[in-house]
Amino acid sequence: MKINFNKPHITGTEYEYIADAISTGKISGNGKYTTLCQDLVRKTIGIKKTLLTTSCTDALEMSAILSNFSIGDEVIIPSYTFVSTALAFVREKAKIVFADSETMHPNIDVKKIQELITPKTKAIVAVHYAGISCDMEELTKVAKDNNLLLIEDAAQAIGGKFKSINLGSIGDFATFSFHETKNIQCGEGGLLSINNEKYMKRAEIIWEKGTNRAEFFRGEVNKYEWVDIGSSFLPSEISAAFLYAQLRDFENIMQKRIEIWNHYYARLFDLHQKGHLKLPYIPVYASNPAHMFYIELPTLEVRDNLKEWLNKNSIQAVTHYLTLHRSPYYSKFHDGRILENSEKFENCLLRLPLFYDLSKNDIDFVCDSIQSFFEK
Ligand SMILES: *Cc1c(COP(=O)(O)O)cnc(C)c1O
Repeated sequence: MKINFNKPHITGTEYEYIADAISTGKISGNGKYTTLCQDLVRKTIGIKKTLLTTSCTDALEMSAILSNFSIGDEVIIPSYTFVSTALAFVREKAKIVFADSETMHPNIDVKKIQELITPKTKAIVAVHYAGISCDMEELTKVAKDNNLLLIEDAAQAIGGKFKSINLGSIGDFATFSFHETKNIQCGEGGLLSINNEKYMKRAEIIWEKGTNRAEFFRGEVNKYEWVDIGSSFLPSEISAAFLYAQLRDFENIMQKRIEIWNHYYARLFDLHQKGHLKLPYIPVYASNPAHMFYIELPTLEVRDNLKEWLNKNSIQAVTHYLTLHRSPYYSKFHDGRILENSEKFENCLLRLPLFYDLSKNDIDFVCDSIQSFFEK
């Protein structure tokens, strides 16, 4: 028996919606299913405007274009995140200022942001790691006080909340991912949410290759033309139809994942109490959308040995990010600050299998294997 790290969940209704999309005779972007997905996410999460994209990376690129950087402008980003969070801004010629994580959680440490702000700072990007909210009250305050844009990389955070507010509805922009490793997926897909009305019109133009085609389709202008920069950020209706099936099953998928997550937590609590490992920390203001189950080990050596032990037991446990401030591409531009918590999570964090079809037996097997590692 092999337990994979991830297995994309299929609800079964994807086929129906895809067949319907094909039967409409229009499978390029911005059709029936794109609108259905955008409306559903907009209403469920409470976002002002949503645009479906081919990936979260695309949505981040759109946020970077909308931010309108001049050369030398700075953006504050956590170092412990996926490459795309930073890459999108690098392509728009922004200078990345990497911030450290909290001690207890990989999320950006808000208390250390103020000292990174200079007259050149234009934006802060908050990544809700594992779908657990950053301190959005403090972040919103820092952004407001310093007149900065606040962008949420909510790639992992669909269904997550800050207090009672849905993640993705707080920042000027927010980005979601529907990559097959995420809770709700369509293979490759994403969504940009725009919560600041000032940017709504331009976002739509950038989305449609720099043209006002969306306005034209709504009959607001009588021809469409090239009016700005942009790119091809729209997914096809086939992807949107697949995604719609998943979004309709959102509550069920979330409930199942939360059950799995809770079972892991209960089973590993004893090892946490004994100090062998640390279970995920969830701040009181955050609710858990169960995107990921990770544990923190005391050292790199223990982490790697445990990973190897689990892999030998046919369990695909995996590490996560390599810090971006030490990456081959960006380390030469980094200012040399040591980001100790980011580096700790690079060394000590281990992710366990978590997907919709993971059985209770499988979870028990993973937890028994972890227990036997510490008892050997
Ligand atoms: C998955 C992920 C992305 C990239 O999403 P894609 O849809 O694959 O482009 C970006 N940021 C974070 C934090 C992610 O987890």
